[in-house]
Amino acid sequence: MSIISKDISKAIQLLTEDHVVAIPTETVYGLAGNIYSEKAIKAIFETKKRPFFNPLIVHIPSIETLSNLVAYVPKKATLLAEAFWPGPITLVLKKKAIIPDLITGGKDTVAVRVPNHPTTLELLRQLDFPLAAPSANPFSSISPTTAQHVESYFKDAIKMVLDGGACTSGIESTIIGFENDEPIIYRLGSTAIEDIEAVVGPIEIKNTVTEDSKQDTIPNAPGMLARHYAPKTKTILTDHLQDTLNTYTNKRIGILAFNAEIENAQIKAQIVLSQNGSLTEAASKLYDALHQLDTFQLDLIIAEKFPDYGLGKSINDRLLRATKS
Ligand code: AMP
Ligand code: MG
Repeated sequence: MSIISKDISKAIQLLTEDHVVAIPTETVYGLAGNIYSEKAIKAIFETKKRPFFNPLIVHIPSIETLSNLVAYVPKKATLLAEAFWPGPITLVLKKKAIIPDLITGGKDTVAVRVPNHPTTLELLRQLDFPLAAPSANPFSSISPTTAQHVESYFKDAIKMVLDGGACTSGIESTIIGFENDEPIIYRLGSTAIEDIEAVVGPIEIKNTVTEDSKQDTIPNAPGMLARHYAPKTKTILTDHLQDTLNTYTNKRIGILAFNAEIENAQIKAQIVLSQNGSLTEAASKLYDALHQLDTFQLDLIIAEKFPDYGLGKSINDRLLRATKS
């Protein structure tokens, strides 16, 4: 029997009984548990095979509930929360003692956001505890953007996936921390940097991955390992699909293109993310395309580099991490 269901009251019951439930958000599906339940939080780490140093994002129903969890909110954090919540921005703030160490990897900060998904907002409003919810995928694999992706990863290792349809943003939230009250981007994501700068001014980005980045063991900001979001199939990233393709012969190749199809006898599968060149549409379809390309027994996936602005920057970050081995 499928674990996929739209029954919010069943999700509430399971979460209240310390179980984990996969939940929809606008970014990707999350593997959710009560932040105050050691049993639920340990089950999240075990189910994902996620290292304990990697802290979790806490999901709350509204900006008003933030002060229960954090000790201090810099002015620019308030501006960002007011501008973007509910939405795909996570704020890393000084935590209150009530937040368990297991959630924060022992750090004195906690990552918090209000997700913009009607089903999950309803769920959060009805629960009397916040939900920790990392992406509902095994550690370092492609993030799930449909209930079916989650089910195929975990089968009956979890009791329920709350079905909220396909995720509309499709890549993870943008994570923002504060140093001396100034915002810093720790992870590029579904909110474009230009939109953030329109609210708080110029902003620095930390933890970008480059072509030369090696797989690090302990990342300087937890969770930002170079290899991440990766298909099982070897994947490379290029500025020129056709030129790169021409360097191979007799291979089974999958193409992930931005807005135009290309031709070559080696191409066994090809996905164009947005025919009309919309970065928003491309972001929403990115992970599903990688999931699909991974099913064709290809020798290689060649992904096209995106324009380096707006959500294109975030997509390139994910694609680059997908190429690390
Ligand atoms: P996800 O698996 O998409 O939910 O990713 C959660 C990520 O949030 C972590 O891997 C970290 O990169 C980030 N994060 C969570 N809590 C903190 C924190 N206290 N300080 C810095 N980064 C954090
Ligand atoms: Mg993740």
